Amino acid sequence: MNQSLSAEALGSEPLSAWSYWVFPLTLAVGLLLTTYTARFVNPIVAAGFISISSILFVALLERLLPYRRDWNRSRGDLPTDLCHTLLHQILLSRGLNILYTLILAGAAAWLAERYGSSVWPHHWPLLLQLLLMLLIAEFGRYWLHRFSHRSPWLWRLHAVHHSPDRLYVFNAGRVHTLEKVLYLIPEVVPFVLLGTNVECLALYVTFNSIQGSFQHSNVNVRLGPLNYFFSMAELHRWHHSKIVAESDHNFGNNLSVWDWVFGTWYLPKGREVGHLGLLSDDYPQTFLSQLRAPFHRRDLSKTE
Ligand SMILES: [Zn+2]
Repeated sequence: MNQSLSAEALGSEPLSAWSYWVFPLTLAVGLLLTTYTARFVNPIVAAGFISISSILFVALLERLLPYRRDWNRSRGDLPTDLCHTLLHQILLSRGLNILYTLILAGAAAWLAERYGSSVWPHHWPLLLQLLLMLLIAEFGRYWLHRFSHRSPWLWRLHAVHHSPDRLYVFNAGRVHTLEKVLYLIPEVVPFVLLGTNVECLALYVTFNSIQGSFQHSNVNVRLGPLNYFFSMAELHRWHHSKIVAESDHNFGNNLSVWDWVFGTWYLPKGREVGHLGLLSDDYPQTFLSQLRAPFHRRDLSKTE
């Protein structure tokens, strides 16, 4: 089995000042734009446009500030990942967000009629509400993700996401459709029950999209101590390692907070991740065959 290697041995690109600033700046601009444009259009529609723009912006950044130049070259996986991105990141996500908004509005009206108001702290500043939403959603997503690496049935679905042997922006959407729906549970149920508002949900959608695009990207991002808060690319590459002892870490989707609380935060110093992907090298490569794979493949053991 391969070992993790030094940056020089892997051909990782040198850092620039932008490596430290590009993600926090993009996130700040994205959140500000969402808040501003939500004055003129539906907040979820505004967040949707910013989310799609962020995917294209990160794709451009991968050319300007790559982590590894060889990860920018298609290995025949681009058509598959574009299909995943279109279906899961754009059509399904946007459609489900509109449905979610309608459910939230209905739940808020029902809670107000029955209890006078919801328990959600609507009077807090929006950024604090966003932080609360992130912490709650991430708790559920952390455990669902961690369990997906333990349960053989959930792993069959999750293996689709771990099948790429490189990381770049368009495989953020490489997930199985059923898993995409399953992961919505911790992102929807608590907030319908708590009566969260649509403005906070819109900020969450923007945060989730920008974070997710950078997290899987081939952009040479460095966050230093902010890695203890954001589950960014530096951490997430280790989660995609082919070595199970390494990939059994960094389960956070947006935040790494629950990883360090529950002891799965992992960022070795002085070396870079080696080969990525699944232990089996013959995983289906086409979009439709990946959607079928969980129902007929039995050789996806995670143990070496
Ligand atoms: Zn995983």
